[in-house]
Amino acid sequence: MTTHTEAFLGELRSQGREFADLVRTTSLDLDRAPTRAAELLLHGPLPWRQLMGLPADFADDPLRIAGRPVLLDRCVEQVVVFEELARGDAAAVLALPGPSMSGQVVAELADADQRERYYRRLAQSPTWTFFGMTEPAHGSDPAGMATVLRPRDDGTGLVLDGTKRFVGNGARAGLGVVFARRNAGPLGVTAVLVDTDRPGFTATPLETSGLRGLQLSQLDLSAVPVTERDVLGLGRRATRQGMWAATRTFNRFRPVVACFALGVAQAAYDYVLAHRRRLRADESWTMERFAERLIGVRALVLEAARSADRDPGDGTLASAAKIRATRLAEELTLAAVDRFGPGARWDHPLLDKWVRDARAFEFMEGTGNIQRLGVAQGYLHGRLSDDRAA
Ligand SMILES: Cc1cc2nc3c(=O)[nH]c(=O)nc-3n(C[C@H](O)[C@H](O)[C@H](O)COP(=O)(O)OP(=O)(O)OC[C@H]3O[C@@H](n4cnc5c(N)ncnc54)[C@H](O)[C@@H]3O)c2cc1C
Repeated sequence: MTTHTEAFLGELRSQGREFADLVRTTSLDLDRAPTRAAELLLHGPLPWRQLMGLPADFADDPLRIAGRPVLLDRCVEQVVVFEELARGDAAAVLALPGPSMSGQVVAELADADQRERYYRRLAQSPTWTFFGMTEPAHGSDPAGMATVLRPRDDGTGLVLDGTKRFVGNGARAGLGVVFARRNAGPLGVTAVLVDTDRPGFTATPLETSGLRGLQLSQLDLSAVPVTERDVLGLGRRATRQGMWAATRTFNRFRPVVACFALGVAQAAYDYVLAHRRRLRADESWTMERFAERLIGVRALVLEAARSADRDPGDGTLASAAKIRATRLAEELTLAAVDRFGPGARWDHPLLDKWVRDARAFEFMEGTGNIQRLGVAQGYLHGRLSDDRAA
């Protein structure tokens, strides 16, 4: 595996920073009207195709740094570019079409036909995808998953039954991955590739406060017909199927969630410095502490991304990075609001938006408590040295 040099990552960061201003122009409009995502994001100057992260055989026009293609398929590339883009607007980046989390499951489990079906569609036209794990009654705990993959009543083929909730881009997606139980226990959970135009598939946007552009949705699956050709990882042993791929996907995506939170924190920090040129001594002291934390968390996120690229089976640093970045985003956005006095959230709509967005990262990809359990387990398994534990 190639290791990116600091110079290369620096150039990648500069490239991301150039896009951030383009993303910012859509920020408040997308927050007010998430249904306008296609109009706002696809028809402007943002090179969204280059940001999708398609594999080499499907990426016609990848991002290039010093003439070298960057596919954004490595976690370390993603955290550098997406942090900068999130300084523009995290919700807008998450609302772009492309593989996102479901692509990781496809990369882990799909056979050649499934891979062609999935990536060809994404390469040909703007297509949003979804990752359907969380459920209304059982959250994202696989042990309680109630969505089932079962034989059709007439014995011909299979159907999916169940409800998924808080699914990003669900209502605008063309296809995605549904996790469903085929047998008892966590190992009985299977990943299924589903086109959203199948009969019995309904997606309804949910009213949310943070990251509204992502359009979290509820998916209702009522005897949605599928075949064995839609089942990902078919024929693999149970320990290498649905939950295995989901865990590796979470481990790879948590540093990315952390980088989004970091981008929002940095945006709030920059906003204070740009709009409050004269800070009191105590305010300056507070902002200096935040500046130090931004640097420290950025280093942790980068290290977590490197770890995820090396071994997606180990999510210890990914959890640590997500805890730290989320906490920083929440504290910094609230502190930024304080710098502008009463009515700040009314007078400064971007600050108001960032406070709401920062809170969403706490829940996305598992809450802080779940991440702390992950760090503790990693520590007990000797995956962290004492001085790196969160
Ligand atoms: C912006 C956003 C995007 C999302 N995108 C997706 C998506 O695309 N697809 C998808 O499937 N889901 C998605 N989700 C859902 C998300 O993954 C879940 O909300 C998250 O994992 C939390 O799970 P939960 O809602 O079941 O909460 P729970 O896990 O039920 O947690 C509820 C509370 O109990 C606490 N808790 C739970 N277990 C423990 C424990 N063992 N010890 C101590 N405390 C505990 C938690 O910390 C929390 O405070 C998204 C959520 C958000 C906010």
